[in-house]
Amino acid sequence: MSERYEVLAVRYGTRQTSAAEVFLNHHAYREPDRPLGMDYFFWVARNPARTVVIDTGFSPAGGAARGRTMLMDTVPALRAAGTTPDDVAQVVLTHAHYDHIGGLPVFTAAEVIMTRDEYDFWTGAMGRRGQFAHTTEASELGHLRELREAGRLTLVGQSHGIAPGIELTQVGGHTPGQAIVTVATAGGPVVLASDAVHYYEELERDRPFSTVADLADMYAAFDRIRELGEAGALVVAGHDPLVAERFGDPADAPGVIRISP
Ligand SMILES: [Zn+2]
Repeated sequence: MSERYEVLAVRYGTRQTSAAEVFLNHHAYREPDRPLGMDYFFWVARNPARTVVIDTGFSPAGGAARGRTMLMDTVPALRAAGTTPDDVAQVVLTHAHYDHIGGLPVFTAAEVIMTRDEYDFWTGAMGRRGQFAHTTEASELGHLRELREAGRLTLVGQSHGIAPGIELTQVGGHTPGQAIVTVATAGGPVVLASDAVHYYEELERDRPFSTVADLADMYAAFDRIRELGEAGALVVAGHDPLVAERFGDPADAPGVIRISP
């Protein structure tokens, strides 16, 4: 039997934005703009045998450069979730944007895993073009290269078993190698959609996000994730304040949202 995990969403940052900023070509919907909050998360999957962290959050510098509010730096955020960098066997990176890889340097021993397409894109020439590059930090991409040279970064294909009960699936769209992660829990599968679905509204109203590498792939990812949801999986959006509303419990530690038992 496959292993099962407890899944936590750690809310480490936030900002205020608007519908016109977050939805691609929002004017096409002929609706007035409206304010929207955006939360920043990383995720922890653990059981007695192992702790796997999915994404790492932005660095203080990466967040400050973009006017984001950091609620907890990576180590205190891990502590809030009851863990430390040394407890973490594997770090899965769903994509290489600044708000997903900025906390990576605190994990000095973990195996780091991401898709080969994502790594190749951001370490290649196209990733340095303006409309792509502003969502990354050159020093953080440099850190990925160093990890690769040191043999600590594993690059994987379209689907990859991270550990028994934890599966990575590449969907693309938001970035060329964007991945989602499915985790087996006592309550059934949990799909950590990360930035394949920033907001539930993207899925529910079929509205792509404004930062997009391939629009057709983004729509196809919506289809795929909806199918997983219809088959009974719990879908966790990557930046939606509704995650705290839908899953949060006053008994949880501040900033830590228990997705599954
Ligand atoms: Zn993000």
